[in-house]
Amino acid sequence: MKDISSIFADQRAFFLHGNTMTYSFRKEQLQKLRDMLKNNENAVYQALKRDLNKSKQETLTTELGILYAEIDFALKHLQSWMEPAKVDAPITHKGTKNFILKEPYGVTLIISPWNYPLQLALAPAIGAIAAGNCVMIKPSEYAEATSHLIAEMVEQTFDPAYFTVVEGEKEETERLMEEPFDYIFFTGSTAVGKIIMQAASRHLTPVTLELGGKSPALVDSDANINLAAKRIVWGKFTNAGQTCVAPDYVYVHEKVKFKFLKAMKKHIQSFYGKEPLKNRDYVRIINEKHFSRLEEFLDNGTVLHGGTSDQSTLMIEPTILDKVTWESPVMQEEIFGPILPVLVFSDIEDAAAIVKTKEKPLALYYFGENNKMQEQIMQFLSFGGGSINDTLYHLANPHLPFGGVGASGMGAYHGKYSFDTFSHHKSIMKQSTKFDLPFRYPGGRISSSVVKKLMK
Ligand code: NAD
Repeated sequence: MKDISSIFADQRAFFLHGNTMTYSFRKEQLQKLRDMLKNNENAVYQALKRDLNKSKQETLTTELGILYAEIDFALKHLQSWMEPAKVDAPITHKGTKNFILKEPYGVTLIISPWNYPLQLALAPAIGAIAAGNCVMIKPSEYAEATSHLIAEMVEQTFDPAYFTVVEGEKEETERLMEEPFDYIFFTGSTAVGKIIMQAASRHLTPVTLELGGKSPALVDSDANINLAAKRIVWGKFTNAGQTCVAPDYVYVHEKVKFKFLKAMKKHIQSFYGKEPLKNRDYVRIINEKHFSRLEEFLDNGTVLHGGTSDQSTLMIEPTILDKVTWESPVMQEEIFGPILPVLVFSDIEDAAAIVKTKEKPLALYYFGENNKMQEQIMQFLSFGGGSINDTLYHLANPHLPFGGVGASGMGAYHGKYSFDTFSHHKSIMKQSTKFDLPFRYPGGRISSSVVKKLMK
């Protein structure tokens, strides 16, 4: 394999040659990406089974399905996204035409995590391709089978001077970051996000940081308890809790706690059976390090459901932890596993005030029927994005931007937001030469008070 500097130089030359600028080129590359996935579906299923014990159904819905939907959406709208956007002008600019050109940045780097190792490597690439950039992906070394497969598929499908994969660990990423990339799109932990941003600053490379955090699920006294429990169980235990927008903890009104916990247990059993550790489709923890980290949380409260684990398969049963306090270790970091602590409140406004003192999470979920309270919670708290009466589902709507705020990240993508993220918006004003308004020039005939009014 070529060294990183020459791969970068090849991509820069490819970009500067103007190869990626046309609609037809970008459309063709998106179609190639779609075909690449279609032709390798079985290999994708196998790789995800190996890395995370993901079932075919889960791989289809949370990895391939999301990618197909994103590609199709981009193909449908690409031409209109690429068109210059006309904008208005104030009266002071009479005679001008004003528009915004969407210009690709150039050579882009995508660094991805292991939890949805295919989707989170390729979904940003769809935006980068649509916007006309060259693409380099550094997948996570922890999802080794998927990382190898992505590298292999991309190598067989694309010119490496346009789109390539560099596999590796921290060292390779650090080496990559020495190159003057035109854009870096990072998905991963908040701690590494800071390192990436610092390294990017050396070349003033703009970044998108898709990070994590402790996303709460608030369950109010008037919530539809059965549906709240079902949707929280689904959101939490999909991918064994290794989802950036999984509800990290539940904060439930004391009046409905008992009923809610009972309903959650029922849904866990119906989704994963009586013995989840023997369920062949139950997702495992990515590696021993994370398994041990999670096991230590199991005695941070009273286990109300689950609580067993199997070191030989790296599986941890869907677990509900009661009697947890804000001071418990499990509440000090993003859990990122199938352990759900439950905290209790007696007044939703007090509960929201406490959540507001924490780092801004990537997602927030509110369960309750009162429209006014729904609105109040959504406006009062700051978080990347979220749902009222659901979990996770918001991220599968390409019309909604997906991204964090504060400690959960900066920037957003999905649908047109991906295209915009990977485009520089270049402002252009085309001036008329048919006349020349005098007021801006020294000695212009309009009084300064009129100028002030016009400039308002
Ligand atoms: P991570 O930050 O450990 O690793 C992410 C990527 O960075 C990997 O490719 C890794 O090789 C690389 N990396 C690790 N350490 C590095 C270093 N010191 N210098 C340079 N590169 C380095 O994250 P992870 O464990 O793979 O993923 C879990 C985290 O990602 C969680 O916090 C989760 O919430 C977050 N996440 C966020 C989203 C989102 O869309 N916002 C999606 C998935 C995961």
